[in-house]
Amino acid sequence: MRRMTVMSRRRFLETVTVAAAIPAIGRQNAPASEWGSPVFDLHHHMRQQPAANLAHVDGAGITKANLLTRGAVEERVKEVGALAPGRFTWFSTFDITRPDAEAQLTQAVKDGAQGFGELKFHVAADGPELRRMCALAAELHVPLLIHFQEVDHFEGEGTWSTGYAKAFEGLLKAFPKTTLIGHADAFWANVSADYHNEVAYPSGPIARGGITDRLLSDYANLYGDCSANSGNNALSRDPSFTPDFLKRHQDKLLFGSDCSCSDGRGGGVSQTGNPAAARLAGKCVARETLTVLRKSAPPAIVRKIVWENAHKLLRIPA
Ligand SMILES: [Zn+2]
Ligand SMILES: [Zn+2]
Repeated sequence: MRRMTVMSRRRFLETVTVAAAIPAIGRQNAPASEWGSPVFDLHHHMRQQPAANLAHVDGAGITKANLLTRGAVEERVKEVGALAPGRFTWFSTFDITRPDAEAQLTQAVKDGAQGFGELKFHVAADGPELRRMCALAAELHVPLLIHFQEVDHFEGEGTWSTGYAKAFEGLLKAFPKTTLIGHADAFWANVSADYHNEVAYPSGPIARGGITDRLLSDYANLYGDCSANSGNNALSRDPSFTPDFLKRHQDKLLFGSDCSCSDGRGGGVSQTGNPAAARLAGKCVARETLTVLRKSAPPAIVRKIVWENAHKLLRIPA
């Protein structure tokens, strides 16, 4: 056997030490990555070119990602999966305002979809469309990811899952067997008790006792997706709030990127059509949010949020 140099021997010993410290779960196929933990991105919108998906995931140091898709795209999902077996899961959506949505989504789950999402439609937060989807998700045992937004990003955009602050609790109550994952502007702005739909991304200190904070505590069937500028903003705006919030909801929060950069390093066009999110222009949202999480929580909590919780939720081995 070739003699080890001092350097390679040191690396070897470090590797052995790290491997011994990682619990058996996921030791084989889940390297720690540059983030100190393997990372699962719950919110990766499937890109047109199969290889572009892997470029973002690899570039940002992400281990696995959940493809969010709309329409009949099963073949493309398979192509992406074939590029990196075991690294992609899949959520599907169809237009939930159409009468055939239930049949289409049921078929998608038969074809391998593990959830519904992202549900981003101009409907009411507790309206008949989302109620139908909640009932179906419970029946099929899959979670459902919803985009809540009350303030336009550009003129005439309109609102999405409207009435979050007043109406969403009704949905949580009516469908205790449905696992709901909240996401986007209104979900995250409402971590602060003083929010009244003034702006998409409020800044400054968070008034304790916001609706989202309370719902996460009160409803076992609600989870929070930390993706996008909205999630990043909520976790960044008040450093005196974030550590306790992450601790409180360490079993309910899920890392996601919702990033549109090309290379996992902020390249290409990001935050397009959303001037209010300019603070993240030219940056990779995944990297920014992983950095905030690591700054704000101890490694064991970070690992839950960026890796373990998603596996438990999707009932897949970590
Ligand atoms: Zn969204
Ligand atoms: Zn990115």
